[in-house]
Amino acid sequence: MTRVESELILPAKQPLNGYYNPVVVDIEEDTKQNEKPFEEVFNTAKTAFSCGKSKPINFRKQQLKALEKFLEECEDEICDAVYKDLRKHRQEVFMGEIDLVKHDLRHTLFELSEWAKPVAPERSLLNLLDGVYIYHDPYGVVLILSAWNYPFMLLLGPLIGAIAGGNCAILKPSELAPESAKVIAKFLPRYLDKDCYQVVLGGIETTTEILKYKFDYIFFTGSTNVGKIIHQAAAKHLTPTTLELGGKSPVYLDESVDILTATRRIIWGKTMNAGQTCISPDYLLCSKEVEDKFLTAARTILDEFYGDDVKVSPHLSKILLDRHYNRLINFIKSSNVVIGGTGDPRTRIIAPTVLTDVKPDDPVMQEEIFGPILPIITVNSPLEAINFINKRDKPLALYVFTNRKDVKELFLNNTSSGALTINDTIMHICTENLPFGGVGCSGMGAYHGKFGFDTFTHKKSVLMRSLGKVAELTQFARYPPYSKSKSEFLSTATKKRRGISFSWLKTAFIFGLGMTFAYGLHYFCSDDDD
Ligand code: NAD
Repeated sequence: MTRVESELILPAKQPLNGYYNPVVVDIEEDTKQNEKPFEEVFNTAKTAFSCGKSKPINFRKQQLKALEKFLEECEDEICDAVYKDLRKHRQEVFMGEIDLVKHDLRHTLFELSEWAKPVAPERSLLNLLDGVYIYHDPYGVVLILSAWNYPFMLLLGPLIGAIAGGNCAILKPSELAPESAKVIAKFLPRYLDKDCYQVVLGGIETTTEILKYKFDYIFFTGSTNVGKIIHQAAAKHLTPTTLELGGKSPVYLDESVDILTATRRIIWGKTMNAGQTCISPDYLLCSKEVEDKFLTAARTILDEFYGDDVKVSPHLSKILLDRHYNRLINFIKSSNVVIGGTGDPRTRIIAPTVLTDVKPDDPVMQEEIFGPILPIITVNSPLEAINFINKRDKPLALYVFTNRKDVKELFLNNTSSGALTINDTIMHICTENLPFGGVGCSGMGAYHGKFGFDTFTHKKSVLMRSLGKVAELTQFARYPPYSKSKSEFLSTATKKRRGISFSWLKTAFIFGLGMTFAYGLHYFCSDDDD
């Protein structure tokens, strides 16, 4: 297991059209060029944290700025690597991997000083003489494990929260996007503090070994099944964990919307990164009438997006691996294809495909699709759609296209999902101040902005009391010998009362001071001789 800093095979420039045949890189083989045993990596991070290196706010800000510099200066390397791994168009790389991360970074940089301040919650009568605070403590050394589909965003996004929280971090990119992993391992350490933030490359074997160590926090992005393995490994050390998982994210579409706009937004979400997006719309629920209109609109939109021959369009990503490609082609083979349905095993490009007459027990409905295939299930009402959704695992995202207030309310009040977006897909991930995460089988915990900071900090309760005589006098009732009167006093004093807040005391005091001053001014400056 290593921190790989071997020479990067510089990626070739993207062809504008046609295909790129990637060099297959064996990350496990790479990692044999062992530079540092993992124990050393881990101990370096542990020592850096215990020396307090990662804690000062200025250090955190400086590291966040360095991360931004990495994204700016290594733009070409990032775009080329993601192109090699996924044939992702440069604009998609900018939108999903660079700009989104930079936005979160800058937001965090602007707000960090405020977020990091201890919070003083409202005090009760019992604590009037005390200091009551919530401190945001870093956890320590955190492990960030990520998926391959957005290889930079999924690793650097959590890293922002980890740095902002004052932690040290060990990053393990996915071995399935090897070119991206190599760019991260080669370039990132040139920008960030080498003791506090380290990159480790490797596959399942490596991750299994790493997970034996006692981290202070684990942040995992990947499939629900592997999420369970990670959670079990973390439980051995009682390590707190955030799991950003996947699943099937449904779309409901009704007749009240502009069908062309709605279809454009659904198709965009489905075909972005060839559907290999955790919050990609997985399947569509609508009535038969809406289905007909959707199919007509979808043909127009797909032509608009990718032209006559989708296989030569530079705007569509490829499917990552042969086994993923074969899995998707098998879904298509066993279904009723009304749009697309073709694929090229050589380039692993699959034309955006729509399936109709899909039954709930069809293979395509048994697992997350993670490809450019959209099955349509017909339903007769929004309630039927809600029942269909609620019978399955809680989705990471739920999309509802409607202009009807009652339908919006129905979905808002009767479904549970990581996020619910009305009249769009994907865009909640770019919305500042919204937490990003799942619920149930789609994950636990959330991040982005303040939520990332909160995820990577322990909220430590701090009570500061006085040992003075007056303070001690107020405490007499809690000490033995116990008595009925002491007990009654305590019950009365600690009883929670609605509406009693002492926050007005400060305002009242300032008001009183102002009144006294005004009165004094009036009294001494008055010319009245009477
Ligand atoms: P994955 O679960 O196969 O792999 C994720 C990470 O886990 C990788 O780093 C991999 O090395 C490691 N891993 C894989 N198998 C392991 C094992 N047996 N033991 C220990 N570690 C192991 O996921 P993936 O294929 O990389 O990504 C696709 C999945 O991730 C989809 O389900 C998708 O929905 C989900 N995803 C979720 C989000 C989110 O933010 N919620 C984002 C992207 C992807």
